[in-house]
Amino acid sequence: MSADALIVNRVLYPVTALGPGRRLGVWLQGCPLACAGCMSRDTWDPAMGEVVPVAELAALWDTVQADGASGLTVTGGEPLTQADALAAFVRHVAGNRIGPGGEADILLFTGYELDELDRRRQAALEGVDVLVTGRFRAAEPTRLVLRGSANQVMHLRTPLGEMRYRELAAAETDTPAMQAFVEGDRLLLSGVPQRGTLAVLERTLRAGGVQLDGVSWRP
Ligand code: SF4
Repeated sequence: MSADALIVNRVLYPVTALGPGRRLGVWLQGCPLACAGCMSRDTWDPAMGEVVPVAELAALWDTVQADGASGLTVTGGEPLTQADALAAFVRHVAGNRIGPGGEADILLFTGYELDELDRRRQAALEGVDVLVTGRFRAAEPTRLVLRGSANQVMHLRTPLGEMRYRELAAAETDTPAMQAFVEGDRLLLSGVPQRGTLAVLERTLRAGGVQLDGVSWRP
């Protein structure tokens, strides 16, 4: 795997449902973990997605940071399957995190547990302020924000992460934040839904005359 480019499913800005403030959201392509009930099956196949040079993503970060972005959220897919290129991108963001929006934080979601992180995966996390770990387990719902199932753990790894996410780490909700982007005929969702959220979304859209085809949360 090249350390100069990342295979990307999508990049969205401003993302407001995956961490505090207005964020750059990067969904990386490829996940070998195949959690039953995953909402992002479109991110599983590493042969899909777009190859984007790290330099291009770094330049995009510089642009959104100048716009006042408050952070970077990396999710997928499984970001740590592309550990070397991810490390290069995270290094750039971590080294260029002070902007008009203040100090930007880095939030990363992985399906791995801490004890599954070898040296390369750990190196990709240098500079990450907040890490959410663990497979999605559909049978273990949770009301905790930014976690899809009760087994998932939010790790506050830096003083900035501790300061900005301490309350979020313990916060619960019945109405998780969800955000929709429209690109052509694609509806792109951002956020961590609870059990039933996506079914409600489909029913609501259908009642309004919108039928979703090819959703990413069904085989
Ligand atoms: S929930 Fe995350 S870790 Fe699990 S299959 Fe989906 S993308 Fe992979």
